Amino acid sequence: MNPKPPIRKSIKSKLTFSMIVMLIPLVFLAIGSYIIIQRSVETLPHFILTTTEETKIANLQNLLLQAVMPANDYLIHGKPYEQKEFLEIGQRIETRFEELLTIQSHNRVTTDIIRDVYRLWGKANDIGKTILIIPNPREQINEDTVQLMEKMDQLILDAANNLNRVHDILINEMKHESSNIQKLSAATPFLIVSLLGIAIVMVIVLSILLNRNILNPIIELREGAEQFSKGNLDHRIAHQSDDELGQLATTFNNMANILMDHQKRLKEMSITDELTGLWNKREFNNQLEREFARAERTNRPCSLVFIDIDHFKKINDTYGHAAGDNVLQTTSLLIRKGLRPIDIASRYGGEEIVIIFPETIKQKAIHIAERIRKDIERYDFELLDEQKIRLTASLGVAGYPEDGKTQHEVLDKADKAMYLAKKSGRNQVYPAPE
Ligand code: GH3
Ligand code: MG
Ligand code: MG
Repeated sequence: MNPKPPIRKSIKSKLTFSMIVMLIPLVFLAIGSYIIIQRSVETLPHFILTTTEETKIANLQNLLLQAVMPANDYLIHGKPYEQKEFLEIGQRIETRFEELLTIQSHNRVTTDIIRDVYRLWGKANDIGKTILIIPNPREQINEDTVQLMEKMDQLILDAANNLNRVHDILINEMKHESSNIQKLSAATPFLIVSLLGIAIVMVIVLSILLNRNILNPIIELREGAEQFSKGNLDHRIAHQSDDELGQLATTFNNMANILMDHQKRLKEMSITDELTGLWNKREFNNQLEREFARAERTNRPCSLVFIDIDHFKKINDTYGHAAGDNVLQTTSLLIRKGLRPIDIASRYGGEEIVIIFPETIKQKAIHIAERIRKDIERYDFELLDEQKIRLTASLGVAGYPEDGKTQHEVLDKADKAMYLAKKSGRNQVYPAPE
């Protein structure tokens, strides 16, 4: 019986491992999708912030350019309400600067430029205020005032140009962001398709492995069990593995070995006589039929010798049944000892033994019977109390084809010959009269 292989990798652990491996691409897919969404979502507020900043810059630029108008108009027309307008525009410009400088700007360069612009505005504002308090400007216009106005114009122009730079930077940033998003979204289908491809390949590989490791062995076990149930006990399950299925296959094979062993022993028991170890009467009849069929088919001789122990009853009566059994066993051994492997000795009845001699003519059988008779006659049978006794047997011999056409006729002749031997005084071999 094969020892059960230890379970090194259980089916449960194999299945768990497969599930985990199958989940890996899905986990990657989830992480990838999360990163893509996160990047897109992160970019969006930044994008909105930049757009807002850009609008405010454009607005500020507009206001700055407007701010030179009241000063200019004041110098030309001398209308006092220009002062009010300048102050109003100035107020709005201040508010814009406040907003822009408090925006959590992501770019230090733009913040620095806006601060510069603010300084330029501060100077232009001062000049503007100076111009707007000149009394009767139309009369007092001179080179100084023209210079002041030109300086203010220049400052505002510088400020507007600087804001253009901020504008360019912000536009570039937006372009960069949007190209990043585009690259990301272009990569997304590729990422999804690759991960799905990996997942599909993994699922295929794992299902092949699961098929080989679990499904195929189960099919083999089922087929094996079917074979066993049909009585094909020589079938064996070839599958060997270090899991429960491997153990099951070994158990099945061991079970088949045990059943075959039992079957063999049962078969032996069903054809053997328990006491003498000779073939029993049923097996004798089978073998007799087979040997006579062969003799008939091959036209070869076959002889039978019928043996009956003389006065066996007396042994039982005098020494007991156990002593009788012992004598019967010893006689059987004595008989078997002198036979060829092809000769068939069987216990026919109580103390009656019949031997089939295939391929043997009657004369030869008479000769062997005589030897057996002598062997029994000369043997010291030792009883359980070490007492030694002697006994004899009567033997009848008949042969095919001379004593009958069938095994029944020849057996009957041998039996009758044995009775003739008894009648003639026992302890002798009697050939059937032809
Ligand atoms: P004969 O010389 O005429 O053959 O006399 P016999 O006493 O041998 O003849 P009989 O057939 O009358 O007796 C056979 C005896 O064998 C009867 C039976 O009790 C005994 N016997 C049959 N089978 C067994 C057995 O298995 N063991 C024992 N101990 N005795 C048995
Ligand atoms: Mg007898
Ligand atoms: Mg008898």
